[in-house]
Amino acid sequence: MKLRKCDNCKIYTFKQLCPKCDKETKNPNPPKYSPEDTYGKYRRLSKQFK
Ligand SMILES: [Zn+2]
Repeated sequence: MKLRKCDNCKIYTFKQLCPKCDKETKNPNPPKYSPEDTYGKYRRLSKQFK
């Protein structure tokens, strides 16, 4: 299961089609980055915004 992104709505989803606009979603991360890195980045970002 991979996290995907709708460029149109700027939302993340696990589905192939965006639940909001029904457009095809994309994998936003280049293959060289592991999912763990991505989640670490988001965790750091969310700390900054709190
Ligand atoms: Zn969408």
